[in-house]
Amino acid sequence: MAIQLAQRATTLTPSLTLAIDAKAKKLKAEGVDVCGFGAGEPDCDTPQHIKDAAAKALAEGFTKYTPSSGIPELRSAIAEKLKADNHLDYKPSQIIVNCGAKHSCYNVILATCQAGDEVIIPAPYWLSYPEMVRLADATPVIVPTSEADGFKLTPEQFRDAMTPATKLVIINSPGNPTGSIYSREEMQALAEVALEEDVLMLSDEIYEKIVYDNAEHVSLAALSPGIYDLTITVNGFSKAYAMTGWRLGYVAAPAPIAAAIDSIQSHSTSNPTSFAQKGALAALKGDQSFVAEMVKAFAERRAYMYDRLTKIPGITCVLPLGAFYMLPNISSFGLTSADFCTKLLEQQKVAAVPGIAFGSDAHMRLSYACSMENIQKGLDRIEAFCASIK
Ligand SMILES: *Cc1c(COP(=O)(O)O)cnc(C)c1O
Repeated sequence: MAIQLAQRATTLTPSLTLAIDAKAKKLKAEGVDVCGFGAGEPDCDTPQHIKDAAAKALAEGFTKYTPSSGIPELRSAIAEKLKADNHLDYKPSQIIVNCGAKHSCYNVILATCQAGDEVIIPAPYWLSYPEMVRLADATPVIVPTSEADGFKLTPEQFRDAMTPATKLVIINSPGNPTGSIYSREEMQALAEVALEEDVLMLSDEIYEKIVYDNAEHVSLAALSPGIYDLTITVNGFSKAYAMTGWRLGYVAAPAPIAAAIDSIQSHSTSNPTSFAQKGALAALKGDQSFVAEMVKAFAERRAYMYDRLTKIPGITCVLPLGAFYMLPNISSFGLTSADFCTKLLEQQKVAAVPGIAFGSDAHMRLSYACSMENIQKGLDRIEAFCASIK
C-alpha cells in the first residue's frame, strides 16, 4: 500500500539547523576536524543544584502525572519571576508550563489561529514559527526587515502587513538568529500599532537573560494594561539555565488563552515531565550567578567573533545585542546561502547555517555557543574560504 501522508506533514520543511548540526556531528564522528557553528544551545552544562533537585525528586518517587498545566509551586515561582524580572502581573492560573518554549509557541498558535488566519513573522525569523503556523492551517506572512533597522520590524512595516485576516504577530527579542533587541521605544511603538489594530502578539522572550553591552530586555506585555490584554508571553529554561534537553518552557497569557492552552496540552502531551519541573523550580529559586557567568563567557566570544568577521573582505555584520548568534551578510560573494555553507563545510570543514533557513538568503548564522578555540580556528578557515572564492 502506498502511504498517503497528510498534506501538513508533506509540506513541512525539516529543520535545517538540526540537519547541519547532524552533518557536522557525523563528520566529527568520522574523525574529521570540523568547526561547528550550528549550535542552538548553550555549550555549558546545567548547574549542579538544578540537577540535584531533579535527582532528589526522582529518588523520592516524584514520577507520576502532574496537573497538565504544571505543578502549582512552579507556576507560582514563574509568576513571582515574571513580577520581579519583567514587571508582569500574572496569576499562577494564567501560567501554563509546557514541554519546552518551542511547545509553548506551538500551543499559543494552535490556541489562537486557524484556517484563514494570517500570522505576521518578521524575517530573519526563528525557523519553526512559519512551520508551526502552517501546522495550525493558518498562513505565515513574512515581513523582511533590514539591516539598517537592526533586523527589527518597524511600526510602518507592521501596519502595512496588517489585513483583516491578521490574527497574531510574533516578536522575538532578543532574537534568533539576529541577536536584535527591541528598545523600550521600539517596543512601545509596536504596542501602539497592536492596540490600534487590536491584534494578538506572541512575545518570545526565551533569550531575555542573554544580553550584552547593558542592553535592556523589555517585556511587551509590561508596557500598558492594553497591550497586556493582547500579549501572550513565552519564556523557558533552555537558554538561561542551559536546560535544552529538559524540555520545559511556559506561557503567561490572558485567562481564556491560558485555559485553552491547558486544554490543548491536556489532550496532547499531558503534563511536562514531573521531576524536570522540580529542577526548573530550583533554577528559579536558587542562585542565579550561573547566568551571569555564562553571559560573560558569551560576551568574550561575541567580541572576538565580531572583530574577526568584520575584518574579512566581503563580509559585513550587524553587532548583535543578545542571544548567541551572529548573522554575517555574505551576499557579496554571489552565492546562495545554501551553496556558501555547503562549500564552506566541504572545503574548510566549517558548519554554519544558511540564512535561507531563517528567511534571508543574504546571510549565514554562526552560533558562538562553542569554545573559543573552535571560534578561533573556525574564523581562520572562514577567512581562508572567503579569500578563495573572492
Ligand atoms: C531555543 C528557542 C526556543 C525554545 O527552546 P526550548 O528548548 O523549546 O525551550 C524558543 N524560541 C527561540 C527563538 C529559540 O531560539
